[in-house]
Amino acid sequence: MTRFTKITASIGPNCETREILTEMIKSGVNVCRLNFSHDTGNVQGAKIDLIRSVADKLNIPVAIMIDIQGPKHRIGDFETENHYPLKIGQKFILDSDPTPGNEHRVFLPDRDVMKSLNVGDRILLNDGKIELKVDAVFDDEIETTVVRGDEIWSRRGFNLPDTDVDTEILTTKDRADLEYAITKNPDFIAISFVQRAEDIAFVRDFIAQRTSHPIKIIAKIERPKAVERIADIAIAADGIMIARGDLAVELPFEQVPAVSRNIIRECRKLNRPVIMATQMLSSMVHSEFPTRAEISDVATAAYLRADSTMTSEETTIGDNPVNVIQTMDKILSYSDMDTITNPYDWSRLDNVPENDWSRSVSSMAYLNKAVAIVVFANDTESATQIACRRPDLPIIAVCGKDYIANQLSLVRGVFPIFDKYLFGERLAFESANKFGIGYGKLVIVDGDKISLRTLD
Ligand code: PEP
Repeated sequence: MTRFTKITASIGPNCETREILTEMIKSGVNVCRLNFSHDTGNVQGAKIDLIRSVADKLNIPVAIMIDIQGPKHRIGDFETENHYPLKIGQKFILDSDPTPGNEHRVFLPDRDVMKSLNVGDRILLNDGKIELKVDAVFDDEIETTVVRGDEIWSRRGFNLPDTDVDTEILTTKDRADLEYAITKNPDFIAISFVQRAEDIAFVRDFIAQRTSHPIKIIAKIERPKAVERIADIAIAADGIMIARGDLAVELPFEQVPAVSRNIIRECRKLNRPVIMATQMLSSMVHSEFPTRAEISDVATAAYLRADSTMTSEETTIGDNPVNVIQTMDKILSYSDMDTITNPYDWSRLDNVPENDWSRSVSSMAYLNKAVAIVVFANDTESATQIACRRPDLPIIAVCGKDYIANQLSLVRGVFPIFDKYLFGERLAFESANKFGIGYGKLVIVDGDKISLRTLD
């Protein structure tokens, strides 16, 4: 069965051996995500080398995505107790005094946050279980009232759903991590807590000053401000991750499915791959089988025609990461094939002009009942753009460079092959055969030339 929706797997302590990575990639992993929030760059380097070596040995293109922590804001330490209960209605102060806090106050290390907060803004801690409302803003302290209470712990991260934080997108740690990551030629760098297109331009510039390797940038959408500016951010970036973990804290959670659908639609229109992320198969951290709701969530991402789904803790710290990938593969494969045999027309609409060349390729394939589209890829653009029309046919991308094949691994319905000796139009049929495509017509895209050939 052909699977069009790709699998991005988060790699962590429970799947870092050669044996497990081999089985995961054989079972269908297309992109390996390394989360730099948990380790410094140098520690992750050996993992990058291991993934590359496993993928090379299997001769399967696999992309490496480095996920940079970004400006996650944290409160300071507390006195001896390390944590305190906050009660509804009580006052609580965030200030610039670095001494340990108590039930009345705590240090707010980030000056940019202090300067950006406004009266009425919400401050959310413990995944939103604590809500503080800002009553007053002074130069050196923020007065708040507790709207929702829970235990507050030292150095906890917090979310600011209402605040346009005037802060640099890269922290000191991020800069050090990026400096290191760049030396490993990753395929993608994912940037957390993006708020505006300028954040992407900043990171792109940071990377360009250090390497000429064409690293793609994925913007993680986890802030309401980023949702509002999704089109500008998608245009500035090379791809989008719907980071539902933080997004569901910063937005009312009931809005996350609707926002996700809109982001997928927007990305298709703008020719950007989009990853649906977080808690997709969470119960499989310990369970052998997914819940019914999880099965439905993964299938929904396929029906919405996202480019990729993503695993999180279920592979990083789960009991059986290989089983997780096999489970995701099964759900996606079935749903993708169902989409092809029972198409829903609404999901095809994408506001792309009638005369758009990629739309013509897709229509040509559809009208001629082609069995596949073959693209000779000197970069990722053509294959990605055709894929964003969602032609519901395999797009075989014959890539002259290994990193192009790796980067196209993320894109829905694209089956990249890297083989420099295959590069040339006469070998299109061989490429199709390699993917088990039997007889029928192929639409061939080679630069500006689009032709129709029969496979016999
Ligand atoms: C998320 O918040 O959904 C996410 C993917 O980011 P992280 O895992 O870095 O918190």
